Amino acid sequence: MSLDILGLSVVETAGRNTFIITKIRRVLISLRTKYQRVDIVEFEEFGRGLILDGLIQSTEADEFIYHESLVHPALTTHPNPKEVLIIGGGEGATLREVLKHNTVKSAVMVDIDGELVELAKKYLDFMHKGSFYDPRTKLIISDGAEFIKKEGSSKYDVVVLDLTDPYGPEIARKLYSREFYEEVRRVLRDDGIMVTQAGSSFFYPRVYDYVLNNVKSVFSIVREYWVWVPAFAYACNFIIASNKYDPTLLTPEEVDSRLRSRSVKTLLYNGKYHKALFMTPILRNKFSKD
Ligand code: SAM
Repeated sequence: MSLDILGLSVVETAGRNTFIITKIRRVLISLRTKYQRVDIVEFEEFGRGLILDGLIQSTEADEFIYHESLVHPALTTHPNPKEVLIIGGGEGATLREVLKHNTVKSAVMVDIDGELVELAKKYLDFMHKGSFYDPRTKLIISDGAEFIKKEGSSKYDVVVLDLTDPYGPEIARKLYSREFYEEVRRVLRDDGIMVTQAGSSFFYPRVYDYVLNNVKSVFSIVREYWVWVPAFAYACNFIIASNKYDPTLLTPEEVDSRLRSRSVKTLLYNGKYHKALFMTPILRNKFSKD
């Protein structure tokens, strides 16, 4: 393939030796914040999207797949989620999905990069859809690891970790450690639920197992699932954990009933989707060089 047909593109790594090229129609803004390189672009066939340190984070065409899959299994498994903590999720789409549950009384969102959040407010309105301005939202600009150390105990029903990948930029790495998950358990109520995006078990099986074992060392009920995200060109893994609730025990009817009673509208997630999520085996590539 001659490179000149690629024109303006982002070339990113799926695995250490596997690359994805995605054509860009135009760049809306490109700058380096205190923490990361931020590009907000219009892709040729994914609409508008966010790129951090050269890795596609979310796009207009398919962000719902990622954000609905990250948020709703955890919030729906909890019988009455009122206080929710989100760490990361700079675009505001995770916050948008959390606020759909009318049981939620407060959503605290902690992101390290205030400049990124301001850019998201300006350029990514289809992601946040005004969720930053919801009266239930409390936006805190802080390193999530610093914030959680100072946070009170037993404050939250659900903690959603929407960070850059565990094999990605340094700033998020410590939020995949056992010590961090112990802090998450402390700020959760006894029947609380945590969910984290966990990168790719296929391309980074050792990194994934590091994260999985850290979660398992802190929580007694740990379940895994993944979804295919076209813009990532790989399956994105999630790990959900609790010491009380098992998401695989919810029937499709119970999931749908909870969504209805909470007036949650989704494009993809429902009872059948929830059930299917936990039926797909976790894939690890034996040829991976991570
Ligand atoms: N990984 C998601 C995806 O693939 O769609 C998107 C995640 S979101 C864009 C990643 C967020 O994590 C960014 O907003 C980044 O600023 C935030 N982040 C990274 N390290 C952090 C830290 N130590 N504390 C809080 N937020 C952090």
